[in-house]
Amino acid sequence: MTFNDNAKLDQNKVSRRGRNTGIAVGGGGGLLVIGLFIVSQLLGVDLTGLAGGGGTSPDQPAEPIANCDTGGQANDSIDCLMRGAATSLDTYWASELPTLGETYRTTDIALFTGSTDTGCGGATSDVGPFYCPADELIYIDTAFYDELTSRFGASDGPLAEMYVVAHEWGHHIQNITGIMNGLDLQATGPASDSVRLELQADCFAGAWVGAAPTIKDESGVAFLEPVTQEQIQNALSAAAAVGDDRIQSSTQGQVTPETWTHGSSESRQKWFQIGYKGGPDACNTFQVATP
Ligand SMILES: [Zn+2]
Repeated sequence: MTFNDNAKLDQNKVSRRGRNTGIAVGGGGGLLVIGLFIVSQLLGVDLTGLAGGGGTSPDQPAEPIANCDTGGQANDSIDCLMRGAATSLDTYWASELPTLGETYRTTDIALFTGSTDTGCGGATSDVGPFYCPADELIYIDTAFYDELTSRFGASDGPLAEMYVVAHEWGHHIQNITGIMNGLDLQATGPASDSVRLELQADCFAGAWVGAAPTIKDESGVAFLEPVTQEQIQNALSAAAAVGDDRIQSSTQGQVTPETWTHGSSESRQKWFQIGYKGGPDACNTFQVATP
């Protein structure tokens, strides 16, 4: 998707943090963090890197990103693209969620490089993009987008990058609506709560993409131009690239569905498309036998 050049972006949705040199690694907090996938799992370590900070507020100053005022700028830089996606997603969910009988509150994106403190503890880029329910923020190291194409084989393109943001925003929706409450997120496997939660976030991402060309700024300018088939393919490619089976076969040489936490490439694409066509109401991953 391409932004309309003169669409006006929200000035508060995205900030960038300076590099954190004093990260605490280790400890065993086990605070809930919900990512696009768990990179460290495929690197053979656990998430202790995320447990160091103990859930305190981030102590790094977050500077709002500069010179990202318009859709035209969102088309030109990755930081501004993040703000463009955030502005459209925020506008979408602020109007959509009340129609589903839920109250919306916003989230923000914290961009970082290398490592950062979060309300869920210290995090490094190895975790990949993630949402922290404790501070209700989305954390993204934009260098991940290079990895998404080079290491995970996704096709390039802004919609693939915005799919990542929309997926994490979906986790925020799950958090504020109570969907996350009472789930067994330790369990794994194709029908586990973890996989259902992840596939629903993919579905919510698809729902936003489906509605995106109708979402407008205060002056009535649509943030995004109509989506092309090629761009949809890019988003599906990103969804497939972070499927558990795809990652397992490339990293461990075999596929073990009983350990899945995010769902297969096929399922992730399927649920993105269900949301794209049917909106958030169709994202009933917890109601079907196997999502
Ligand atoms: Zn996720």
